[in-house]
Amino acid sequence: MIYVLYALCAIVCVFVLLLLVAVLRTLVSRMKKKKTPRYVPVGDREREDEYAKKLSEMIKIDTVSTSGIDKPERIYEFHALLEKLFPLVHKNLEKTDINGNLLFKWKGKKSDRPVVLMGHQDVVPVEGVWKHEPFSGDIDDSLVWGRGSADTKCTVMAFFQAVEELLSQGYVPEQDVYLSSSCTEEWAGPGCPSLVDYLKKRGVKPFLVCDEGGGIIENPLSGVNGDFAVMGIIEKGMCGVKFTAKSTGGHASAPTKNTPIARLARFVNDVEKKSPFKRELIPEVRSFFNTISEYSSFPLALVFGNLWLFGGLLTKLMPLISAQGAAMLGTSICFTMQSGSDAFNVIPAEASVTANIRFGKNQGREESLKIITDLAAKYGLETEVLLANDVMPSPDMNGEAFKLVKSVIKQTFPTIVSVPYVMTGGTDARFYQEICDTCVRFAPVLYGPAQMKGMHGIDECLSVSCLPGAVDFYKNVIKALGE
Ligand SMILES: [Zn+2]
Repeated sequence: MIYVLYALCAIVCVFVLLLLVAVLRTLVSRMKKKKTPRYVPVGDREREDEYAKKLSEMIKIDTVSTSGIDKPERIYEFHALLEKLFPLVHKNLEKTDINGNLLFKWKGKKSDRPVVLMGHQDVVPVEGVWKHEPFSGDIDDSLVWGRGSADTKCTVMAFFQAVEELLSQGYVPEQDVYLSSSCTEEWAGPGCPSLVDYLKKRGVKPFLVCDEGGGIIENPLSGVNGDFAVMGIIEKGMCGVKFTAKSTGGHASAPTKNTPIARLARFVNDVEKKSPFKRELIPEVRSFFNTISEYSSFPLALVFGNLWLFGGLLTKLMPLISAQGAAMLGTSICFTMQSGSDAFNVIPAEASVTANIRFGKNQGREESLKIITDLAAKYGLETEVLLANDVMPSPDMNGEAFKLVKSVIKQTFPTIVSVPYVMTGGTDARFYQEICDTCVRFAPVLYGPAQMKGMHGIDECLSVSCLPGAVDFYKNVIKALGE
């Protein structure tokens, strides 16, 4: 008995000691605490106005695209507008149009390390009542309003404008520069794959692809203060999965046990209560928390800055702190659709729920689908995978192309801090990973709470003051290719 007590005392002492070390480390790092990183706009009203007007024109053309709905006339109207807004790009670059998906090639002095700047033309459909009409392109004092302002006509405007301005100065890039813009991104359509296929056939292997995805995010987690250049380096995989419960049906007046809906409900409830997937701190996520720890409130700084001690605790607590943060830690599942019988008094012969699963790097497509299929079988459910993309590998964070993006962020936005990040949503950049090892998802514009809410939601808008910085970012990427 006495030995057990000794052992317990020893464990408590070791824990207290480790805790003291963690607290001391945090306190020391807070003594040299850096200033809260805040985005500082370029502050050039003339440029802001010019770019806001161009973006506004682009928003006014409704380029909504959804699976199965093809509105080529709108896309071609958008192309005509691009030609009007960026005449030098259209005069000097080689244009390829594959069913409305655009690729412009700007011939550089060399072709061995080409770069692709990309953003999509299409936008998601509009729902709800908006303060400003969704395709008004209204500009008020500080914001441009409308669908596509933040996702992502802003970046399309910015890289076209960057090339336009460099061309007007007679600039010739050191390397080939491609501008890539699909019109089917919002439903993971065939647009971008067709552009990648085109480049592949020509043997083009981009040194760097720079797409939307991350961005300059204000206070990325609650308790973390500052504006951070959040660079999406891993894109989670995604699929739809349908779970079906079958029975012999019958009249609801004499119900049997374990009807299809009861089984589905138990399954959904159990998965919601306790996820069957592991939450883990992969190196890229550790790097994210380590970087932001210096800008976090004390309890969070203690945890984020001492993952050697609190890593396990963090993976458990993260769902309570942030849904976005939790989604970075592994595979997630969200039930989104359901069906049953057609009448209230009929037991369904077949009922189903459909879920959206996003695969983490720690448990990719194969492993995650096996876990959920095996679990569903225990509830007597059949599993059908509707569509599945695996998680995308991350680029070499010590590689030249990645370092180039980091240094251009520092050069263009010296007052903010860059952090790697796991993308929980999908982008067209995933298709480029077939021909490029370094695809970075970073839109060089400021996303505050209003922008985060507006993307794919209502009242989408973007601050006018961040547009010159976005144009400068792309110019600096192009210029950095020669260094
Ligand atoms: Zn987008």
